[in-house]
Amino acid sequence: MSELGKYIKVVSARSKLKEVLKKSQDGGIVSTAFIYGLENNLLDGVIVADKKDGFMPYPKVATTVEEVLEAAGTKYSVCPNISVLKSAAREYGCEKIGVVGTPCQVRAVRKLIKYPLGFRHVADKIALIIGIFCMENFPYEGLKLIVEEHCNVKMDDVVKLDIGKGKFWVYTRWGETKAIKLKETHPYEQTSCHVCLDYTAELADISTGSVGSPDGWSTVFIRTKKGEEFFNKMVEDGYLEIKPIEEVKPGLDLVIKLAKTKKDKNSKEIEHRKELNLPVPH
Ligand SMILES: Cc1cc2nc3c(=O)[nH]c(=O)nc-3n(C[C@H](O)[C@H](O)[C@H](O)COP(=O)(O)OP(=O)(O)OC[C@H]3O[C@@H](n4cnc5c(N)ncnc54)[C@H](O)[C@@H]3O)c2cc1C
Ligand code: SF4
Repeated sequence: MSELGKYIKVVSARSKLKEVLKKSQDGGIVSTAFIYGLENNLLDGVIVADKKDGFMPYPKVATTVEEVLEAAGTKYSVCPNISVLKSAAREYGCEKIGVVGTPCQVRAVRKLIKYPLGFRHVADKIALIIGIFCMENFPYEGLKLIVEEHCNVKMDDVVKLDIGKGKFWVYTRWGETKAIKLKETHPYEQTSCHVCLDYTAELADISTGSVGSPDGWSTVFIRTKKGEEFFNKMVEDGYLEIKPIEEVKPGLDLVIKLAKTKKDKNSKEIEHRKELNLPVPH
């Protein structure tokens, strides 16, 4: 099993848009790509995960730069982005849709493009699929327990959540930072994530995550011709700065290591579930 899926090239990159860097999780690749697409008529609507009070994610069709910026940053909870895809095409009348999602959501989009059951006249309007790396996710109630019980912070006071360096980090609007060992969050993971074999969103046009690049930068895989064309234009037009991945630390080796860890661990869980005659993904 390949660890990273197919790709044309991989780089370390960061947005050149100051307003993005103020709000983005890492190098702001997702928000910058969506803003670039909307400003240059390559996209006319993008599906993002915005948040309500209490840092609860909800899926949204964004058609303006302001809406994209509002939805920047990672929400470590399940957000059914694909549920508004049909609405983007039918209610918003979008012809060139951008979608961001976790690896499982990217797989769902590829599946509906190939077998558009219930998605007639929608699949052909998907213009760009951006995937974000994902090791695991939490149901909202689980996230709430981690933040409120373990970190002693009210969900209403959270401004940013992050996972890195073996810890789960919570940043509050009072300027405080709390962290607990990632190990302590394991009981709250969504159980379906334990049979997931995709870490780097292998079926996206472009996929991105923090692992492999320094703080404030992102690791970016350009996977398809469509993704390559879009990415190159963004760089040429001055929206992104890039560095060869070989020149940054910790670099690609760490991405490979984590992808392999996820695939090995979850493959074992799939085998275990098969022995118990429990359902497993196809
Ligand atoms: C559950 C989860 C687990 C992750 N695990 C890892 C990991 O193990 N390693 C790693 O390197 N990176 C991981 N990431 C990705 C990382 O946190 C960043 O999302 C990614 O690097 C993009 O950052 P950015 O600055 O380019 O994006 P930004 O410009 O900040 O934009 C992020 C985009 O992602 C969307 N989004 C936010 N939360 C969700 C969600 N829950 N579901 C769908 N879309 C969402 C936002 O709407 C926004 O458009 C994870 C993300 C999630 C949601
Ligand atoms: S671990 Fe897999 S199934 Fe769980 S949210 Fe991430 S991509 Fe989806």
